[in-house]
Amino acid sequence: MGTGDREQAYTRARQEAERLTADGVQGIALTWVDNAGLTRVKSVPTARLPHAARRGVGMSPVFDVYLVDDSMTTSRHIGGPDGDLRLFPDLDRLTPLAAQPGWAWAPADRYDQTGLAHPACQRLFARRMTERARERGLTLRMGFETEWVVTEGEPTQDKPRYPTAGPAYGMARVVDLTDYLADLLGALRAQRVEVFQLHPEYSPGQFEVSVAPADPVGAADLAVLVRETIRAHSTRTGLNPLFGPVVEAGGVGNGGHLHLSLWQDDRNLCRDGDGPHGMTATSEAFLAGVLRELPALLAIGAPSPASYLRLEPSRWAGAYQCWGVENREAALRFIPGAPDDPGAANAEIKCFDPAANPYLVVGAVITAGLAGLDSGLTLPPPVSGDPAVKGRERRLPTSLLTALERFEDSAVLREALGGPLFESIAAVRRAEAALFEKATPQEIAAATRGRY
Ligand code: GLU
Ligand code: MG
Repeated sequence: MGTGDREQAYTRARQEAERLTADGVQGIALTWVDNAGLTRVKSVPTARLPHAARRGVGMSPVFDVYLVDDSMTTSRHIGGPDGDLRLFPDLDRLTPLAAQPGWAWAPADRYDQTGLAHPACQRLFARRMTERARERGLTLRMGFETEWVVTEGEPTQDKPRYPTAGPAYGMARVVDLTDYLADLLGALRAQRVEVFQLHPEYSPGQFEVSVAPADPVGAADLAVLVRETIRAHSTRTGLNPLFGPVVEAGGVGNGGHLHLSLWQDDRNLCRDGDGPHGMTATSEAFLAGVLRELPALLAIGAPSPASYLRLEPSRWAGAYQCWGVENREAALRFIPGAPDDPGAANAEIKCFDPAANPYLVVGAVITAGLAGLDSGLTLPPPVSGDPAVKGRERRLPTSLLTALERFEDSAVLREALGGPLFESIAAVRRAEAALFEKATPQEIAAATRGRY
């Protein structure tokens, strides 16, 4: 980052800070998401925003090896108490927080003291991979779905208590929590988040919000903003929002599905092509690359031991390494969309969950897709019906350690992430697997469900 850029950011941040101060905003939350999938923060008073834009806000690199329980591990390049990084707010995303009056939010990129990009910054990784696609004339539109469970009472209690007994997808749940849900829509709208849908999901107390697609980094930022809005709004309402992969072991969990479409200029490459179900050859190769890499990608998209309690057959979680047209049991679901709606065709990766760092997810998925293009891959025939019943399809890894093995074997992910980021992710995965090695499924669920 050059000195000129910083001076420009300083000037702009002064204007923004004045405006926010006039609107009663006292503080700005600068967030990043760590390799364990937790959103961490440094905040500054509003008047300090210009300084943060020019000089950044200090933080220790050791956060790259934090685990879900706040303990630390170490890795080849990163670990220990030494060093300092600077968090730089992305002023384009500065948003006053409707469910946290007095606060605004901005996601941050991480640089070192001399202005060099921190090699393990997840958000800069997502930017780099977006740029790699752009160099080939390709852009991506992406969107995360957010699933969560609300409970009431003591958050640490063993048996969760739900504020609604309404059935799966039941209108009764919307009636029971009518103010909670309406005010949530209001908060998201006030933040200019375009919501597509809000509905009760399958599990007790479970809901889902989906939002309009954005560029890859924008989609990851939105995933953070939507989640933090749900968190703040739930807490103010006296409810506990749980974003862990599973709330009760043995039940249907929370997914963090990623939708994506590939574009060339204004053309959606997921349709009007000669490939399977109307996709173009480019789109087919990209999706085939994602499908090939899924076992390794799970170490990014299903990063917790709890993820494997969710990733079970016949729970719409996508436990098999196959694709299908509108098949909700396939890890990769192709959605052709209506013929007169050119923007609608897209693919959904279902096997990912909300413990994942969304910046790592978008960057790693682009990496896998571009590798598919390089190899000129084609897709196998699509699978229809539940693969668990047919018994022919390959299961995705069933444990974090197996996914980690596949991740460590992945030359494409290793190259794209670079040593410091790759090794710190691997270290966190290994340490979390060890952390829960002797825990029962219910203990894992209870220790993780409220952490993300
Ligand atoms: N809750 C399911 C999951 O764990 C997904 C349900 C759906 O398809 O929306 O991914
Ligand atoms: Mg859902």
